[in-house]
Amino acid sequence: MNPVVAIVGRPNVGKSALFNRLLQQRLAIVESEPGVTRDRIYATAEWSGRGFTLVDTGGIEVTADHGIHDLTRRQAQLAIQEADVVLMVVNGREGLLPADQEVAEELRRAGPRQVIVVVNKVDDPAQMKNLYEFYGLGLGLGDPMAVSAAHGLGIGDLLDRILTLLPEGEAEAGDESVNRVAVVGRPNVGKSSLVNAILGEERVIVSDIPGTTRDAIDVGVVRGGSRYIFIDTAGMRRKGRIEHPVERYGVIRALRAVDRADVALILIDAVEGLTEQDKKIAGYVFEAGRASIVVINKWDLFEDKSDEGVKAFVDGVRWGLPFMSYSPILMISARTGQRVPKILETVDRVAGEYSRKIPTPDLNRLLRDAVTVSPPPAERGKRLKIYYATQGGTRPPTFLLFVNDPDLLYYTYRRYLENRLREAYGFDGTPIRLVAKERK
Ligand code: GDP
Ligand code: GDP
Repeated sequence: MNPVVAIVGRPNVGKSALFNRLLQQRLAIVESEPGVTRDRIYATAEWSGRGFTLVDTGGIEVTADHGIHDLTRRQAQLAIQEADVVLMVVNGREGLLPADQEVAEELRRAGPRQVIVVVNKVDDPAQMKNLYEFYGLGLGLGDPMAVSAAHGLGIGDLLDRILTLLPEGEAEAGDESVNRVAVVGRPNVGKSSLVNAILGEERVIVSDIPGTTRDAIDVGVVRGGSRYIFIDTAGMRRKGRIEHPVERYGVIRALRAVDRADVALILIDAVEGLTEQDKKIAGYVFEAGRASIVVINKWDLFEDKSDEGVKAFVDGVRWGLPFMSYSPILMISARTGQRVPKILETVDRVAGEYSRKIPTPDLNRLLRDAVTVSPPPAERGKRLKIYYATQGGTRPPTFLLFVNDPDLLYYTYRRYLENRLREAYGFDGTPIRLVAKERK
Protein backbone atom coordinates (compact mmCIF):
# COMPACT_ATOMS: atom_id res chain seq x y z
CA MET A 1 0.00 0.00 0.00
CA ASN A 2 1.33 3.40 -0.93
CA PRO A 3 1.53 6.23 1.59
CA VAL A 4 -0.41 9.35 0.62
CA VAL A 5 1.15 12.79 0.14
CA ALA A 6 -1.46 15.55 -0.15
CA ILE A 7 -0.97 19.06 -1.51
CA VAL A 8 -3.10 21.73 0.21
CA GLY A 9 -3.29 25.50 0.07
CA ARG A 10 -5.54 28.35 -0.89
CA PRO A 11 -6.40 28.78 -4.59
CA ASN A 12 -3.71 29.97 -7.01
CA VAL A 13 -0.62 29.28 -4.94
CA GLY A 14 0.45 26.72 -7.53
CA LYS A 15 -0.81 23.42 -6.14
CA SER A 16 -1.52 21.86 -9.48
CA ALA A 17 1.71 23.24 -10.95
CA LEU A 18 3.60 21.61 -8.10
CA PHE A 19 1.68 18.37 -8.54
CA ASN A 20 2.65 18.18 -12.18
CA ARG A 21 6.24 19.12 -11.48
CA LEU A 22 6.62 16.47 -8.79
CA LEU A 23 5.26 13.88 -11.19
CA GLN A 24 7.70 14.87 -13.90
CA GLN A 25 10.55 14.13 -11.56
CA ARG A 26 9.48 10.64 -10.80
CA LEU A 27 11.05 7.65 -12.39
CA ALA A 28 8.48 6.53 -14.89
CA ILE A 29 7.06 3.29 -13.56
CA VAL A 30 3.96 3.34 -15.68
CA GLU A 31 4.25 4.27 -19.32
CA SER A 32 2.04 7.18 -20.15
CA GLU A 33 -0.97 6.18 -22.11
CA PRO A 34 -3.04 8.46 -24.32
CA GLY A 35 -6.61 8.62 -23.08
CA VAL A 36 -5.80 8.51 -19.38
CA THR A 37 -7.53 11.56 -18.07
CA ARG A 38 -5.29 14.60 -18.44
CA ASP A 39 -6.06 16.85 -15.54
CA ARG A 40 -5.40 14.23 -12.95
CA ILE A 41 -5.63 15.00 -9.27
CA TYR A 42 -3.91 11.92 -8.02
CA ALA A 43 -1.17 9.72 -9.34
CA THR A 44 1.33 7.21 -8.19
CA ALA A 45 4.81 8.66 -7.97
CA GLU A 46 8.18 7.20 -7.19
CA TRP A 47 11.37 8.74 -5.91
CA SER A 48 14.55 6.86 -5.00
CA GLY A 49 12.69 3.59 -5.11
CA ARG A 50 9.86 4.61 -2.77
CA GLY A 51 6.35 4.73 -4.19
CA PHE A 52 3.69 7.09 -2.92
CA THR A 53 0.36 8.50 -4.01
CA LEU A 54 0.32 12.22 -4.67
CA VAL A 55 -2.98 14.09 -4.36
CA ASP A 56 -3.81 17.62 -5.49
CA THR A 57 -6.63 18.51 -3.12
CA GLY A 58 -7.43 21.59 -5.20
CA GLY A 59 -8.93 19.29 -7.80
CA ILE A 60 -11.10 17.22 -5.48
CA GLU A 61 -14.78 17.95 -5.85
CA VAL A 62 -16.29 18.50 -2.46
CA THR A 63 -19.68 19.73 -1.48
CA ALA A 64 -19.16 23.27 -0.22
CA ASP A 65 -22.01 24.99 1.51
CA HIS A 66 -20.48 28.41 1.98
CA GLY A 67 -18.45 29.35 -1.04
CA ILE A 68 -14.82 29.27 -1.92
CA HIS A 69 -13.24 29.53 1.54
CA ASP A 70 -15.34 26.72 2.75
CA LEU A 71 -14.28 24.75 -0.30
CA THR A 72 -10.56 25.16 0.35
CA ARG A 73 -11.04 24.34 3.97
CA ARG A 74 -12.94 21.17 3.23
CA GLN A 75 -10.33 20.06 0.76
CA ALA A 76 -7.73 20.60 3.42
CA GLN A 77 -9.83 18.61 5.88
CA LEU A 78 -10.01 15.73 3.46
CA ALA A 79 -6.27 15.71 3.04
CA ILE A 80 -5.66 15.86 6.75
CA GLN A 81 -7.92 12.92 7.40
CA GLU A 82 -6.20 10.66 4.99
CA ALA A 83 -2.70 11.82 4.19
CA ASP A 84 0.57 10.66 5.69
CA VAL A 85 2.40 13.80 4.63
CA VAL A 86 0.85 17.19 3.87
CA LEU A 87 2.49 19.77 1.62
CA MET A 88 1.11 23.16 2.61
CA VAL A 89 1.74 25.44 -0.36
CA VAL A 90 2.03 29.22 0.00
CA ASN A 91 2.99 31.97 -2.42
CA GLY A 92 6.49 33.35 -1.80
CA ARG A 93 5.78 36.50 -3.78
CA GLU A 94 2.64 37.54 -2.00
CA GLY A 95 3.79 36.54 1.45
CA LEU A 96 1.58 35.26 4.19
CA LEU A 97 -2.14 36.02 3.76
CA PRO A 98 -5.13 35.46 6.05
CA ALA A 99 -6.38 32.72 3.72
CA ASP A 100 -3.14 30.81 4.35
CA GLN A 101 -3.73 31.10 8.07
CA GLU A 102 -7.18 29.58 7.61
CA VAL A 103 -5.75 26.54 5.90
CA ALA A 104 -3.05 26.28 8.56
CA GLU A 105 -5.73 26.49 11.22
CA GLU A 106 -7.39 23.40 9.77
CA LEU A 107 -4.10 21.56 9.81
CA ARG A 108 -3.35 22.53 13.38
CA ARG A 109 -6.82 21.55 14.54
CA ALA A 110 -6.15 18.01 13.31
CA GLY A 111 -3.30 17.70 15.79
CA PRO A 112 0.30 16.90 15.06
CA ARG A 113 0.79 16.09 11.40
CA GLN A 114 3.71 15.69 9.11
CA VAL A 115 3.53 18.99 7.31
CA ILE A 116 6.07 20.58 5.00
CA VAL A 117 5.55 24.27 4.26
CA VAL A 118 6.34 24.73 0.57
CA VAL A 119 6.99 28.32 -0.49
CA ASN A 120 6.22 28.36 -4.20
CA LYS A 121 6.89 30.90 -6.95
CA VAL A 122 10.40 31.59 -5.67
CA ASP A 123 11.62 31.73 -9.25
CA ASP A 124 14.62 33.80 -8.29
CA PRO A 125 16.76 33.39 -5.15
CA ALA A 126 16.58 37.17 -4.60
CA GLN A 127 13.02 36.58 -3.47
CA MET A 128 14.20 34.39 -0.62
CA LYS A 129 13.73 37.11 1.97
CA ASN A 130 10.07 36.21 2.11
CA LEU A 131 10.81 32.72 3.31
CA TYR A 132 11.10 33.48 6.99
CA GLU A 133 7.72 35.05 7.49
CA PHE A 134 6.21 31.62 6.87
CA TYR A 135 7.51 30.40 10.20
CA GLY A 136 4.58 32.51 11.36
CA LEU A 137 2.28 29.67 10.30
CA GLY A 138 3.57 27.72 13.26
CA LEU A 139 3.51 24.62 11.13
CA GLY A 140 5.81 22.27 9.45
CA LEU A 141 8.70 20.05 10.26
CA GLY A 142 11.96 21.84 9.58
CA ASP A 143 12.33 25.03 7.60
CA PRO A 144 9.88 26.15 4.95
CA MET A 145 11.22 25.01 1.59
CA ALA A 146 11.48 27.41 -1.33
CA VAL A 147 10.58 26.03 -4.72
CA SER A 148 9.53 27.18 -8.14
CA ALA A 149 7.04 24.76 -9.58
CA ALA A 150 7.11 26.71 -12.82
CA HIS A 151 10.89 26.46 -13.23
CA GLY A 152 11.55 23.21 -11.44
CA LEU A 153 13.73 24.71 -8.71
CA GLY A 154 14.08 23.02 -5.34
CA ILE A 155 11.99 20.03 -6.38
CA GLY A 156 14.62 17.34 -5.78
CA ASP A 157 15.27 18.66 -2.26
CA LEU A 158 11.56 18.66 -1.57
CA LEU A 159 11.21 15.05 -2.70
CA ASP A 160 14.12 14.07 -0.47
CA ARG A 161 12.40 15.69 2.49
CA ILE A 162 9.11 13.97 1.68
CA LEU A 163 10.90 10.65 1.63
CA THR A 164 12.21 11.08 5.15
CA LEU A 165 8.65 11.55 6.39
CA LEU A 166 7.01 8.60 4.67
CA PRO A 167 6.04 5.74 6.96
CA GLU A 168 7.82 2.44 6.59
CA GLY A 169 6.09 0.27 4.00
CA GLU A 170 3.71 -2.33 5.37
CA ALA A 171 4.04 -5.90 4.25
CA GLU A 172 1.41 -6.90 1.74
CA ALA A 173 -0.87 -9.76 2.58
CA GLY A 174 0.17 -11.90 -0.34
CA ASP A 175 -2.38 -14.66 0.00
CA GLU A 176 -3.29 -15.48 -3.58
CA SER A 177 -6.36 -17.53 -2.76
CA VAL A 178 -8.25 -14.48 -1.50
CA ASN A 179 -9.65 -11.84 -3.84
CA ARG A 180 -9.24 -8.40 -2.37
CA VAL A 181 -12.00 -6.08 -3.58
CA ALA A 182 -12.25 -2.29 -3.33
CA VAL A 183 -15.54 -0.53 -4.02
CA VAL A 184 -14.90 2.97 -5.33
CA GLY A 185 -16.90 5.81 -6.82
CA ARG A 186 -18.20 9.28 -6.17
CA PRO A 187 -20.30 10.11 -3.14
CA ASN A 188 -23.88 8.88 -3.46
CA VAL A 189 -23.23 6.49 -6.31
CA GLY A 190 -24.32 3.62 -4.07
CA LYS A 191 -21.13 2.12 -2.59
CA SER A 192 -22.64 1.54 0.84
CA SER A 193 -25.81 0.16 -0.64
CA LEU A 194 -23.85 -2.25 -2.81
CA VAL A 195 -21.59 -3.49 -0.02
CA ASN A 196 -24.63 -4.02 2.17
CA ALA A 197 -26.44 -5.83 -0.65
CA ILE A 198 -23.51 -8.19 -1.17
CA LEU A 199 -22.99 -8.81 2.52
CA GLY A 200 -26.70 -9.33 2.94
CA GLU A 201 -26.86 -12.12 0.37
CA GLU A 202 -28.00 -15.41 1.80
CA ARG A 203 -25.13 -17.43 0.57
CA VAL A 204 -22.26 -15.36 1.90
CA ILE A 205 -20.62 -15.71 5.26
CA VAL A 206 -19.27 -12.47 6.65
CA SER A 207 -16.57 -11.76 9.21
CA ASP A 208 -14.71 -8.64 10.29
CA ILE A 209 -10.98 -8.46 9.81
CA PRO A 210 -9.03 -5.90 11.83
CA GLY A 211 -7.98 -3.19 9.40
CA THR A 212 -4.42 -2.27 8.66
CA THR A 213 -4.91 1.47 8.74
CA ARG A 214 -6.52 3.57 11.42
CA ASP A 215 -10.20 2.74 11.44
CA ALA A 216 -10.31 0.83 8.17
CA ILE A 217 -12.52 -2.18 8.47
CA ASP A 218 -11.97 -5.03 6.08
CA VAL A 219 -14.67 -7.62 5.77
CA GLY A 220 -14.06 -11.22 4.84
CA VAL A 221 -16.67 -12.97 2.72
CA VAL A 222 -16.93 -16.63 1.82
CA ARG A 223 -19.22 -17.74 -0.94
CA GLY A 224 -19.18 -21.16 -2.51
CA GLY A 225 -15.52 -22.12 -2.64
CA SER A 226 -14.25 -18.55 -2.98
CA ARG A 227 -12.93 -16.13 -0.41
CA TYR A 228 -13.01 -12.36 -0.72
CA ILE A 229 -11.98 -9.42 1.36
CA PHE A 230 -13.90 -6.18 0.94
CA ILE A 231 -11.37 -3.52 1.75
CA ASP A 232 -12.09 -0.62 4.04
CA THR A 233 -15.80 -0.85 4.47
CA ALA A 234 -15.66 1.61 7.36
CA GLY A 235 -18.52 4.03 6.96
CA MET A 236 -20.24 1.75 4.49
CA ARG A 237 -21.92 -0.66 6.83
CA ARG A 238 -23.15 1.68 9.49
CA LYS A 239 -24.92 4.59 7.95
CA GLY A 240 -26.36 7.95 8.75
CA ARG A 241 -24.00 9.13 11.46
CA ILE A 242 -22.03 11.61 9.45
CA GLU A 243 -23.85 14.02 7.20
CA HIS A 244 -21.47 14.44 4.33
CA PRO A 245 -20.75 11.35 2.26
CA VAL A 246 -17.48 12.87 1.19
CA GLU A 247 -16.29 12.63 4.76
CA ARG A 248 -17.75 9.24 5.33
CA TYR A 249 -15.75 7.82 2.48
CA GLY A 250 -13.43 10.36 0.92
CA VAL A 251 -11.58 10.12 -2.35
CA ILE A 252 -8.17 9.69 -0.78
CA ARG A 253 -9.48 6.91 1.34
CA ALA A 254 -10.81 5.20 -1.76
CA LEU A 255 -7.38 5.44 -3.38
CA ARG A 256 -5.77 3.70 -0.44
CA ALA A 257 -8.32 0.94 -0.75
CA VAL A 258 -7.44 0.56 -4.45
CA ASP A 259 -3.76 0.23 -3.56
CA ARG A 260 -4.55 -2.70 -1.31
CA ALA A 261 -6.96 -4.39 -3.72
CA ASP A 262 -6.71 -6.91 -6.53
CA VAL A 263 -9.99 -5.91 -8.14
CA ALA A 264 -11.69 -2.52 -8.02
CA LEU A 265 -15.43 -2.18 -8.55
CA ILE A 266 -15.79 1.24 -10.17
CA LEU A 267 -19.32 2.41 -9.50
CA ILE A 268 -21.09 4.74 -11.91
CA ASP A 269 -24.55 6.24 -11.52
CA ALA A 270 -26.88 5.08 -14.31
CA VAL A 271 -28.89 8.28 -14.17
CA GLU A 272 -26.02 10.75 -14.10
CA GLY A 273 -23.83 8.82 -16.51
CA LEU A 274 -20.04 8.96 -16.57
CA THR A 275 -18.61 12.11 -14.96
CA GLU A 276 -15.13 13.65 -14.92
CA GLN A 277 -14.58 12.46 -11.37
CA ASP A 278 -15.49 8.91 -12.43
CA LYS A 279 -12.84 9.10 -15.15
CA LYS A 280 -10.25 10.24 -12.66
CA ILE A 281 -11.02 7.41 -10.31
CA ALA A 282 -10.88 4.89 -13.17
CA GLY A 283 -7.61 6.42 -14.38
CA TYR A 284 -6.13 5.88 -10.96
CA VAL A 285 -7.23 2.24 -10.88
CA PHE A 286 -5.65 1.75 -14.29
CA GLU A 287 -2.37 3.37 -13.33
CA ALA A 288 -2.22 1.45 -10.09
CA GLY A 289 -2.34 -1.68 -12.27
CA ARG A 290 -5.40 -3.17 -10.60
CA ALA A 291 -8.06 -5.29 -12.24
CA SER A 292 -11.41 -3.59 -12.59
CA ILE A 293 -15.10 -4.05 -13.22
CA VAL A 294 -17.24 -1.10 -14.27
CA VAL A 295 -20.48 -1.34 -12.31
CA ILE A 296 -23.41 0.80 -13.45
CA ASN A 297 -25.60 1.16 -10.37
CA LYS A 298 -29.19 2.40 -10.00
CA TRP A 299 -30.17 0.54 -13.15
CA ASP A 300 -33.73 0.45 -11.76
CA LEU A 301 -33.87 4.20 -12.47
CA PHE A 302 -32.47 4.00 -15.98
CA GLU A 303 -35.22 5.04 -18.36
CA ASP A 304 -34.52 3.96 -21.93
CA LYS A 305 -33.91 0.23 -21.64
CA SER A 306 -34.47 -0.38 -25.37
CA ASP A 307 -31.57 -2.05 -27.17
CA GLU A 308 -30.53 1.28 -28.66
CA GLY A 309 -30.84 3.10 -25.36
CA VAL A 310 -28.66 0.58 -23.54
CA LYS A 311 -26.13 0.46 -26.35
CA ALA A 312 -25.85 4.24 -26.43
CA PHE A 313 -25.22 4.31 -22.70
CA VAL A 314 -22.60 1.56 -22.75
CA ASP A 315 -20.89 3.11 -25.78
CA GLY A 316 -20.74 6.39 -23.89
CA VAL A 317 -19.04 4.73 -20.94
CA ARG A 318 -16.58 2.90 -23.19
CA TRP A 319 -15.83 6.10 -25.05
CA GLY A 320 -15.17 7.94 -21.82
CA LEU A 321 -12.83 5.25 -20.49
CA PRO A 322 -10.76 4.31 -23.56
CA PHE A 323 -7.83 3.05 -21.47
CA MET A 324 -10.08 0.52 -19.73
CA SER A 325 -11.68 -1.17 -22.71
CA TYR A 326 -10.81 -4.55 -21.18
CA SER A 327 -13.14 -4.13 -18.19
CA PRO A 328 -16.47 -5.92 -18.04
CA ILE A 329 -19.47 -3.63 -17.57
CA LEU A 330 -22.31 -4.77 -15.30
CA MET A 331 -25.65 -3.02 -14.90
CA ILE A 332 -27.02 -3.57 -11.44
CA SER A 333 -29.35 -2.20 -8.84
CA ALA A 334 -28.06 -2.27 -5.29
CA ARG A 335 -31.59 -1.33 -4.22
CA THR A 336 -33.53 -4.14 -5.89
CA GLY A 337 -30.66 -6.62 -5.91
CA GLN A 338 -30.83 -7.03 -9.67
CA ARG A 339 -27.68 -8.80 -10.89
CA VAL A 340 -25.87 -8.22 -7.60
CA PRO A 341 -24.91 -11.93 -7.40
CA LYS A 342 -23.18 -11.51 -10.76
CA ILE A 343 -20.63 -9.28 -9.13
CA LEU A 344 -18.79 -11.93 -7.11
CA GLU A 345 -18.85 -14.26 -10.13
CA THR A 346 -17.28 -11.56 -12.23
CA VAL A 347 -14.72 -10.79 -9.51
CA ASP A 348 -13.71 -14.48 -9.59
CA ARG A 349 -13.26 -14.42 -13.32
CA VAL A 350 -11.37 -11.14 -13.43
CA ALA A 351 -9.13 -12.06 -10.49
CA GLY A 352 -8.25 -15.26 -12.33
CA GLU A 353 -7.16 -13.27 -15.36
CA TYR A 354 -5.24 -10.88 -13.14
CA SER A 355 -3.09 -13.76 -11.86
CA ARG A 356 -2.89 -15.63 -15.12
CA LYS A 357 0.42 -17.12 -16.26
CA ILE A 358 1.26 -17.85 -19.89
CA PRO A 359 3.86 -20.57 -20.49
CA THR A 360 6.99 -19.14 -22.09
CA PRO A 361 6.91 -21.31 -25.26
CA ASP A 362 3.27 -20.32 -25.94
CA LEU A 363 4.08 -16.69 -25.40
CA ASN A 364 7.02 -16.78 -27.80
CA ARG A 365 5.01 -18.62 -30.42
CA LEU A 366 2.26 -16.00 -30.20
CA LEU A 367 4.71 -13.12 -30.52
CA ARG A 368 6.52 -14.73 -33.46
CA ASP A 369 3.19 -15.11 -35.26
CA ALA A 370 2.19 -11.55 -34.43
CA VAL A 371 5.48 -10.20 -35.80
CA THR A 372 5.14 -12.28 -38.96
CA VAL A 373 1.63 -11.01 -39.64
CA SER A 374 2.56 -7.41 -38.93
CA PRO A 375 6.26 -6.61 -38.46
CA PRO A 376 7.29 -3.58 -36.41
CA PRO A 377 7.49 -0.46 -38.59
CA ALA A 378 10.94 0.89 -39.47
CA GLU A 379 11.64 4.41 -38.24
CA ARG A 380 14.56 6.32 -39.65
CA GLY A 381 16.14 3.09 -40.80
CA LYS A 382 15.79 1.39 -37.40
CA ARG A 383 13.44 -1.43 -36.64
CA LEU A 384 12.45 -3.13 -33.41
CA LYS A 385 13.66 -6.72 -33.08
CA ILE A 386 12.05 -8.92 -30.46
CA TYR A 387 14.41 -11.75 -29.53
CA TYR A 388 12.31 -13.50 -26.94
CA ALA A 389 9.78 -12.90 -24.23
CA THR A 390 8.86 -14.21 -20.84
CA GLN A 391 6.23 -13.42 -18.25
CA GLY A 392 7.94 -11.50 -15.48
CA GLY A 393 5.01 -11.46 -13.10
CA THR A 394 1.29 -11.52 -12.44
CA ARG A 395 -1.20 -9.20 -10.71
CA PRO A 396 -1.20 -7.62 -13.26
CA PRO A 397 0.31 -9.88 -15.92
CA THR A 398 3.62 -8.35 -16.91
CA PHE A 399 5.61 -9.47 -19.92
CA LEU A 400 9.28 -8.82 -20.51
CA LEU A 401 10.28 -8.44 -24.13
CA PHE A 402 13.99 -8.69 -24.82
CA VAL A 403 14.70 -6.47 -27.79
CA ASN A 404 17.48 -4.70 -29.68
CA ASP A 405 16.42 -1.21 -28.51
CA PRO A 406 13.56 -0.58 -26.04
CA ASP A 407 12.98 2.93 -27.44
CA LEU A 408 11.79 1.38 -30.69
CA LEU A 409 8.73 -0.20 -29.09
CA TYR A 410 6.26 2.54 -29.96
CA TYR A 411 2.80 2.99 -28.56
CA THR A 412 0.90 1.70 -31.57
CA TYR A 413 2.98 -1.47 -31.80
CA ARG A 414 2.73 -2.01 -28.07
CA ARG A 415 -1.02 -1.74 -28.47
CA TYR A 416 -0.97 -4.20 -31.35
CA LEU A 417 0.93 -6.78 -29.31
CA GLU A 418 -1.35 -6.23 -26.34
CA ASN A 419 -4.38 -6.82 -28.55
CA ARG A 420 -2.91 -10.06 -29.87
CA LEU A 421 -2.33 -11.25 -26.32
CA ARG A 422 -5.89 -10.37 -25.43
CA GLU A 423 -7.30 -12.12 -28.51
CA ALA A 424 -5.43 -15.28 -27.58
CA TYR A 425 -5.85 -15.28 -23.81
CA GLY A 426 -8.59 -12.83 -22.87
CA PHE A 427 -7.20 -11.07 -19.80
CA ASP A 428 -10.68 -9.73 -19.16
CA GLY A 429 -10.73 -6.96 -16.62
CA THR A 430 -7.01 -6.77 -16.08
CA PRO A 431 -4.42 -4.37 -17.43
CA ILE A 432 -1.39 -6.06 -18.95
CA ARG A 433 2.06 -4.61 -19.06
CA LEU A 434 4.71 -5.00 -21.70
CA VAL A 435 8.18 -4.05 -20.60
CA ALA A 436 10.85 -3.83 -23.28
CA LYS A 437 14.37 -4.65 -22.13
CA GLU A 438 17.58 -4.44 -24.06
CA ARG A 439 19.21 -7.79 -24.61
CA LYS A 440 22.80 -7.45 -23.63
P1 GDP B 1 -3.64 26.14 -7.62
O1 GDP B 1 -4.93 26.86 -7.71
O2 GDP B 1 -3.04 26.27 -6.23
O3 GDP B 1 -3.65 24.73 -8.10
O4 GDP B 1 -2.61 26.96 -8.55
P2 GDP B 1 -2.09 26.66 -10.04
O5 GDP B 1 -1.15 25.54 -10.05
O6 GDP B 1 -3.26 26.60 -10.94
O7 GDP B 1 -1.23 27.98 -10.30
C1 GDP B 1 -1.80 29.26 -10.21
C2 GDP B 1 -0.99 30.24 -11.06
O8 GDP B 1 0.33 30.39 -10.54
C3 GDP B 1 -0.83 29.76 -12.50
O9 GDP B 1 -0.96 30.88 -13.35
C4 GDP B 1 0.60 29.22 -12.55
O10 GDP B 1 1.17 29.35 -13.82
C5 GDP B 1 1.30 30.11 -11.54
N1 GDP B 1 2.45 29.43 -10.93
C6 GDP B 1 2.47 28.20 -10.38
N2 GDP B 1 3.72 27.92 -9.91
C7 GDP B 1 4.50 28.98 -10.18
C8 GDP B 1 5.88 29.30 -9.96
O11 GDP B 1 6.66 28.53 -9.41
N3 GDP B 1 6.31 30.53 -10.37
C9 GDP B 1 5.48 31.42 -10.98
N4 GDP B 1 5.98 32.57 -11.35
N5 GDP B 1 4.18 31.15 -11.22
C10 GDP B 1 3.68 29.96 -10.82
P1 GDP C 1 -22.40 6.02 -1.30
O1 GDP C 1 -22.25 7.44 -0.86
O2 GDP C 1 -21.66 5.77 -2.59
O3 GDP C 1 -22.06 5.00 -0.25
O4 GDP C 1 -23.94 5.84 -1.68
P2 GDP C 1 -25.16 5.22 -0.84
O5 GDP C 1 -25.08 3.73 -0.83
O6 GDP C 1 -25.24 5.94 0.46
O7 GDP C 1 -26.39 5.61 -1.78
C1 GDP C 1 -26.74 6.95 -2.04
C2 GDP C 1 -28.23 7.03 -2.33
O8 GDP C 1 -28.54 6.30 -3.53
C3 GDP C 1 -29.09 6.44 -1.24
O9 GDP C 1 -30.23 7.24 -1.10
C4 GDP C 1 -29.45 5.06 -1.78
O10 GDP C 1 -30.66 4.60 -1.26
C5 GDP C 1 -29.54 5.33 -3.25
N1 GDP C 1 -29.25 4.12 -4.04
C6 GDP C 1 -28.16 3.31 -3.93
N2 GDP C 1 -28.23 2.31 -4.84
C7 GDP C 1 -29.38 2.48 -5.53
C8 GDP C 1 -30.01 1.76 -6.60
O11 GDP C 1 -29.54 0.75 -7.11
N3 GDP C 1 -31.19 2.27 -7.07
C9 GDP C 1 -31.76 3.38 -6.52
N4 GDP C 1 -32.90 3.78 -7.03
N5 GDP C 1 -31.19 4.07 -5.52
C10 GDP C 1 -30.01 3.64 -5.03
